[in-house]
Amino acid sequence: MSIAQNLAAINERMAQAARAAGRDPAEVALLAVSKTKPAEAVNQALAVGQCLFGENYVQEAAQKIPQVNEGALWHFIGHLQSNKAKKAAGLFDVIQTVDRAKLAKALSRHCSEQGKTLTILLQVSLAGETQKSGCPPEQAPELARLCAGLPGLRLAGLMTMPPFFDQPEKVRPYFAQLRRLAAKLAPDLPAGSMAQLSMGMSGDFEAAIAEGATLVRVGSAVFGPRS
Ligand SMILES: *Cc1c(COP(=O)(O)O)cnc(C)c1O
Repeated sequence: MSIAQNLAAINERMAQAARAAGRDPAEVALLAVSKTKPAEAVNQALAVGQCLFGENYVQEAAQKIPQVNEGALWHFIGHLQSNKAKKAAGLFDVIQTVDRAKLAKALSRHCSEQGKTLTILLQVSLAGETQKSGCPPEQAPELARLCAGLPGLRLAGLMTMPPFFDQPEKVRPYFAQLRRLAAKLAPDLPAGSMAQLSMGMSGDFEAAIAEGATLVRVGSAVFGPRS
């Protein structure tokens, strides 16, 4: 199947999952994850109306983004080292993986210097896997308050990458947990700070939509398997 056909099929499945959950399909956006794929593949997706793209590596994105046509919006979804914050702040529209104060402060400083407002999501690690990136849920309230107050940043929600990402029914409780965490944090934050829930990938985006995802991150189902 072509990228255009894959996108049409995924958009249809997303709309069905939203309707099945009693949600408006317009509430859920598709982030096409283009890591390891060439700019040409991104341009094919862009040509059929896909505008949001996700990348995991700053270096790869720095090469790819200039080769992509006008109209794409870029989300960073990989682990971000603080020493790459400046470059990432210049390249991306959204950083989904803010998981510690040091990184938030570095992004804030660089955005202020560049006169830019960067939309960020907090990456939360729900399974207590300490080696993984993502802040533990217990630390999320403090990090969210910090980010909401930093110049140059606009906090827009939460992101998670659960374990067992190949078994949709096992990950569903984690998606529910992220939704509950956002609901718990929202009252103490500026309006809109918890509007977005980035969760769900190729294997489990329908389960994520059933649990309230507003942004699903789909790579291989759009662009084909990664080598
Ligand atoms: C690679 C990646 C995805 C997409 O994964 P697929 O299974 O190919 O859909 C989504 N989110 C993150 C954080 C990723 O690194």
